[in-house]
Amino acid sequence: PFLDDPALKQVLAALSAEGAQALIVGGAVRNALLGEPVADVDIATSARPGETLRLAETAGLRTVPTGIDHGTITVIAGGRGFEVTSFRRDVETFGRRAVVAYSDRIEEDAQRRDFTMNAIYATSTGEVLDPVGGLEDLARRRLRFVGDPHDRISEDYLRILRFFRFLAWYGREAELQAVAACGELREGLARISRERIGYEIRRLLNAPDPSPSVALMTETGVLTQVLPGADASDLPELVEAEHEYGTGALTAWPRRLALLAPPDAAEALRLSRDETRTQDQIAQALTMPAPVAAYHFGRAVAAQSVLIRAARGETPPFGWCHRLARGAEAKFPLTARDLMPQLSGPALGQALRRAEAAYIDSDFTLPREALLQIALQPEAGS
Ligand code: ATP
Ligand code: MG
Repeated sequence: PFLDDPALKQVLAALSAEGAQALIVGGAVRNALLGEPVADVDIATSARPGETLRLAETAGLRTVPTGIDHGTITVIAGGRGFEVTSFRRDVETFGRRAVVAYSDRIEEDAQRRDFTMNAIYATSTGEVLDPVGGLEDLARRRLRFVGDPHDRISEDYLRILRFFRFLAWYGREAELQAVAACGELREGLARISRERIGYEIRRLLNAPDPSPSVALMTETGVLTQVLPGADASDLPELVEAEHEYGTGALTAWPRRLALLAPPDAAEALRLSRDETRTQDQIAQALTMPAPVAAYHFGRAVAAQSVLIRAARGETPPFGWCHRLARGAEAKFPLTARDLMPQLSGPALGQALRRAEAAYIDSDFTLPREALLQIALQPEAGS
C-alpha cells in the first residue's frame, strides 16, 4: 500500500530515469511485509551520490546531502524526505571500522546491512528481491545477522543494541550464537556515543513488549554495560499492568526506564532536560501517595507511578483514576500575598507550607478560610 505513495513513486522514477536501479529497502519493506505501519522509506540505488543529486534535480526535486560521506542524500518529495543511499560494500581496513566503497550490485549492498530482515529490497512495482534470505527469517520472526555476528558487531558495536531493539519489535527467535556474540563484545559499546545509545534504548523500550529481549540483555551483561545498576526483573509485570490498567496516550519508554531505575540514566543516555525532569518526577512520585504526586507533578507522571507500583505488586486503590484527576486539578487557594500583612520572611514561607500540607492531608478539601486560619494560628506547642 505504501507503494501507492505518489511522492515515493516520483523519487524512484527520478532515480531510475537513466537506467540506474532504485529500490526500497530496510524498515519500510520489512514492516510492509509484516503488516506493520511504515514510518520512513529508505531507498537504495546503483546511482552514485553525484548522480543521485543530478537525477533528483533534473526531476525538479530538492536534495539535502545529509550523509554524503557514506553515500546518503535526502531527496524531498511531497514535503517529505526520502533517504537515498548508493549501493555500498564495506571494505575492511586493519580490523577497524569498515570503510565505504560503492557498488553496482545489490548482493554486495545486502552484505553490509545488519540483519537479514533489514536487507530485503522492493521495486516500485512491488517485486521483492531477497539476496540474503531475509524473507524466510522474517516469516519465522528470526533475527539473524548478515554474516558472522562476531565480525559484524566488531565492525560497529551499535549493532548490539540494534539487535536487541529489532528482536524486541519483530523477533521471536534469536540465534544463540548472535546473543553470545553480543555478550562477549558488549564492552565495545563504550566506544559508541551516548546519543546513539539513548536513541536505541528509547526505541527498544517502546516496543509492545520489550521484556523478553531485555531479559536477554540482562543475561548477557549488555544492559548493565549501557545502564549500570539497572534492574529489569519487574519489566514483565509492568507490561502486564499496562494492559490491565491502560496507559492512555502515554509513551512507554519513560515509565519503563523509570522502572529499571538506573541511577545515572540521564547521563548515560543523554536525556534532554525535559526527559530528565520526567525521570526525576516519576522517582519522586514513587515516594508519595499517587494523588499527591498528581497534585505536584500532574496526572501523567502520577499515572506512571501507579503502573510502576502495580508492577511491584501494589494494587491501585479503587477509584485511583478519579483521585489522580482530583489531585491534578486541585489548586492550593492561598498565596504569600494573603498572609503578607501579618507575616513576612521565613515565617511566611513556613506558614504557607504548613497550610499546604494540611490542604494535601485533607485530600484537597479544606476551604480557603480554614487554610488561612491554619497559616495564621500561632504554632501550637512550640
Ligand atoms: P526503523 O526505520 O524502523 O528504525 P530500519 O530498518 O529502517 O528501521 P534504519 O536505522 O532506518 O532502520 O536503517 C535503514 C537500513 O539501513 C536498515 O534496515 C539496515 O539495512 C541499514 N542499517 C542501518 N544501520 C545499520 C548499521 N548500524 N549497520 C548495518 N546496517 C545498518
Ligand atoms: Mg528506516
